[in-house]
Amino acid sequence: MATIKVKRPDLSTGEKIYFGSIFKGMLITLRHAFKSLFGKSVGADALASSGMGITMQYPEQKWDEHLPEYYRGTPALVTDEQQRERCVSCQLCEFICPPKAIKITPGEIDSDDEWAKVEKRPKAFEIDMIRCIYCGMCEEVCPEQAIYLRPDYITVGTSRSEMVHDKDRLYEIGGTRVGLVNKWNDLK
Ligand code: SF4
Ligand code: SF4
Repeated sequence: MATIKVKRPDLSTGEKIYFGSIFKGMLITLRHAFKSLFGKSVGADALASSGMGITMQYPEQKWDEHLPEYYRGTPALVTDEQQRERCVSCQLCEFICPPKAIKITPGEIDSDDEWAKVEKRPKAFEIDMIRCIYCGMCEEVCPEQAIYLRPDYITVGTSRSEMVHDKDRLYEIGGTRVGLVNKWNDLK
């Protein structure tokens, strides 16, 4: 196997002392500070056009209606247009979730249920929002388009247990998603 030796670049005396870099960094910070004093900070135009001015006065002002369409916030479960749980508890999202924030207990669907042919739905589904890093892998991997990152960005709680979203909470945030996956229902 060929070995490639990568030569480390030689540092100049100035780089070795690193004061130059610190000074450069401070100059950039100062430049931004002065610019913002005169309303010319980075992103000022976007904020000004949103009617918020330079600094958003949170919580009086909120991003809600200013969020871009592609914003990915709290993950949640969705039902379909017939109010069926889209999730078939395949556990792919639980497997892929990098910080192991998802915990699913699969449950069988009764044979006399309207959706018996689906076979499974989650008996319990929890997402620990203290662990979640909003990466969106669960959304990407889901074969049923049952889990989505919603535009909710205020996920707070006064205890650890409050930060664990159970199935009811996840459907409350997610709501209904119309269209897309139809493979299990009569429209197949
Ligand atoms: S967004 Fe990422 S971290 Fe959060 S539950 Fe989904 S896969 Fe896990
Ligand atoms: S949300 Fe999607 S990936 Fe996760 S268990 Fe349900 S069907 Fe599978």
